[in-house]
Amino acid sequence: MSSPTLPTVILKPGEADRVIAGHPWIYQGSIIRLTHPAADGELVQVKDHRQRFIGVGFYNSKSKINVRVLSPERIEVTKAFFLERIRAALAVRQRHLPDATSFRVVNAESDFLSGLILDKYEDVFVLQTSSLGMDQRKPMILDVVQELFAPRAIVERNEMASRKFEGMSDENGVWKMVEGRWEMEDVSAALTERGTSRPAAATSAGESSELSSTVAQAENLRSGASRLHTIAGTGPSSTFSLTLTLNDLRFETDLLAGHKTGLYLDQQVNYRLVAQFAKDAEVLDCFSFLGGFGLHAARAGAARVHMVDQSAEAIAAATRNAAANALSARCTFDTANVFDWLKAATAVRPHERVVPRFDLIILDPPSFTRNRASVPDALRGYKEIHLRALKLLKVGGTLATFCCSHHVDAGLFQDTLLSAAYDARRVLRRVAAYTQSPDHPIIPMIPETEYLKGFAYELVR
Ligand code: SAH
Repeated sequence: MSSPTLPTVILKPGEADRVIAGHPWIYQGSIIRLTHPAADGELVQVKDHRQRFIGVGFYNSKSKINVRVLSPERIEVTKAFFLERIRAALAVRQRHLPDATSFRVVNAESDFLSGLILDKYEDVFVLQTSSLGMDQRKPMILDVVQELFAPRAIVERNEMASRKFEGMSDENGVWKMVEGRWEMEDVSAALTERGTSRPAAATSAGESSELSSTVAQAENLRSGASRLHTIAGTGPSSTFSLTLTLNDLRFETDLLAGHKTGLYLDQQVNYRLVAQFAKDAEVLDCFSFLGGFGLHAARAGAARVHMVDQSAEAIAAATRNAAANALSARCTFDTANVFDWLKAATAVRPHERVVPRFDLIILDPPSFTRNRASVPDALRGYKEIHLRALKLLKVGGTLATFCCSHHVDAGLFQDTLLSAAYDARRVLRRVAAYTQSPDHPIIPMIPETEYLKGFAYELVR
């Protein structure tokens, strides 16, 4: 059965294979023509140059990604469609994270819902829509979230750079069901960017700023936190504090106000795995944010955990989180730039050697690069922190290190830290490899869905 009512996008020869294989993005340059005009955000059908049907997706002429394919079948985008897709996504989490109460329910391309992110923080949900087609269907999506989870509230945090490229403005607020209808309390006016977000992608050769931004968006799948900004002059209505549980530890976060919000849900599994190296250890947690790695290490029996982050608000929250879990006695904190802190900790007079003092060092920095052009600078940054961290690590100790940049793959990342190990004259034994938690599924056909990698190394000598 054909869908005569849907406008048809005809692809150039050779452009269909990627889409058939499962990649949802169709760029402007891949398209021969549109059979009749389609409104931005409308559902279109996609055919190859021989008129063979390939799928349906959301159209947006304003975006470089003209079509975001939703299905290889002739589906209609109804509430039932979202119900089925979100249920399927939830089933993946229930299978792979059976005990988690906070997790990413929908991770956009990873769950075949390009442009939609949905996070569950206990009984509160955070919704982000980065494509126009998704944005226009928010009421349907809200209904499905209500039906599946009956949440206390649904917070909308929509202020990512990628929205601009889809012709959308920022929207922030709290959705509440009032007498059977969704009402949003808008807090956009209270929001300002105070430099806490990751920088927008710069344009680089061979890559339009929009495409960089799209990859940045994929990389941003990493977190709610990365895109959530601070609010200046927050009134009582623009705070949304809640306590959530990860691996039986309590974390306080605020989904709207003050300090950086959200949490790095993608490390949920790795917190547990890295903590296995913490028994009786002197631990250094660099880029500690709310204390994810540090507090797991403290609970696992570390002798002492020192957490370093440049954000005073993050350190204040981590300090409260340590107290909430009765772990304060073994935790210390520093508000500092990690580069400066490591430099000071490894500074020696001529002919002196750095005395290693840690048994476990965790490095989980933000992405140092948003685009291919700045990869060399990013690698210099990664190398520098590894070089200094290795000097502080005792023989037999463990370095657990992560990289969340999509443009730096696992091989390049390991090469960089081997080069740091060479300069420090250290030899490493790799004892673990890490990836993003399973609520951020990797679809190998969509390389942008894979961004977080990490390793643990023991210091041989
Ligand atoms: N490990 C954390 C995630 C870290 S994300 C977790 O699992 O939750 C990045 C963190 O690094 C943010 O808290 C940010 O404030 C901090 N940060 C970014 N650049 C920094 C720098 N140069 N020095 C110290 N902290 C930095």
